[in-house]
Amino acid sequence: MRAWRTWRTWTTRATRSMLLVALVAGVALGPAPASGGRGGRITTGFERRGGLSWTTPAEERDLLRELIAAAPGPDRAGWAPARVTVTRVGGSARGRDVELITVSGARTVPEPIRVLFVCGQHGDEPAGREACLKLVRDLADDRSAAGRRLLERVTVLVLPAPNPDGLAAGTRGTAEGVDLNRDHLAVASPEARALRRVLRETRPHIVHDLHEFDAPTDAPAAPTLYLWPRNLNVDPELRGLAQELARDRIGSALRAAGWASDVYGVDATGRRLGGDGDERLLRNAAALDSAVAVLVEVDANPTSALERGDAALLHRRRVGAHLVAARATLRMAAERGEAVTSAIRAARARSARGPERVYLDGADNLPGTWAAPLEPPCAYRLTPAQFATARAALTEHGIRVSPDLTVRTAQPQGVKATLLLDPRARFAITDGAPEPCGEEGA
Ligand SMILES: [Zn+2]
Repeated sequence: MRAWRTWRTWTTRATRSMLLVALVAGVALGPAPASGGRGGRITTGFERRGGLSWTTPAEERDLLRELIAAAPGPDRAGWAPARVTVTRVGGSARGRDVELITVSGARTVPEPIRVLFVCGQHGDEPAGREACLKLVRDLADDRSAAGRRLLERVTVLVLPAPNPDGLAAGTRGTAEGVDLNRDHLAVASPEARALRRVLRETRPHIVHDLHEFDAPTDAPAAPTLYLWPRNLNVDPELRGLAQELARDRIGSALRAAGWASDVYGVDATGRRLGGDGDERLLRNAAALDSAVAVLVEVDANPTSALERGDAALLHRRRVGAHLVAARATLRMAAERGEAVTSAIRAARARSARGPERVYLDGADNLPGTWAAPLEPPCAYRLTPAQFATARAALTEHGIRVSPDLTVRTAQPQGVKATLLLDPRARFAITDGAPEPCGEEGA
């Protein structure tokens, strides 16, 4: 696929330049630290401390450097190791790097399925990142035939810390107070732009978004929750695959591992807590880019007296649950890759000429305020000032704008154009003037 090849070239160059910068700064190269012990397994800081505290950013750098360095070539049995690369894909508001880790096989099928793990949009939910670092290490370390076969078919993309300032400060939002998981439509924050760049350049087939939650004390939820994209504009076939992944694969794997697991967003009494069709959420926004997208939430609070008295045990359960879910996603990618890629191809073909109707709100379990979907106008006309406001978001989403500042809805990203520009849309960033068909371009 063309976009992918472009990305690979860019990755290689960007990786080199990143390592060069690191070399100049004197932080990343030189002898690999012996964090795993001489000849021992490469470990995370979290593992070395038995789960008492999270892997620090410096330990993460060392871990990745070791994994990259630990791949000298095929061994005597002809086993070729996984390739690990690290690419800077953007920067945070405070100037911290947003990095993408790629794990791929030494040999791959012509079009491996790409799975993106987004490991901590909210900085105060650290278990997702920890699970992702373990996952990367496990994949890079796996010398089994099954592990090799998996990486021949699946390319694993990992954003360990998409909100690095929030992670450093232990806050949900970014340093500018932005909730990153409400910024995937307007794409106003540098962190959301970095994530969008990854989506645009890698075009992942599956997006797996890792979170942690505080169960409400009056209505305890299952300790693990999952959800698919509920936005009504999402292609039904892709929603179906996301449901299969979330419910049948992830939910089942979590239950098999001993954790109760349920649908996110509705508590035991049927009260709605969140997880709706909001198009600003990554789960919905990525699905509108024709990805199979899922959310996984793990309870951050103690679920037993034992966990209450043992922080390391609590941390290990949170990380362990995320790992089980992530592995379930990789299994589905390996086993159902063809179904996923052909569904995505079909969805892209269906959306190529733009939407016939656009739902301005609602969800697959909730009727919206708008009883019927909107039949979108042919175009939205923008004033120069409105264009200045909307320009960055339109560009980030790949929405084409005519020289006379009209945005036609008959284009692949026509749903997002409508949600961004229609005065009736709940999260529109500017109020474009709807132009009926036959008048635009006059
Ligand atoms: Zn979260």
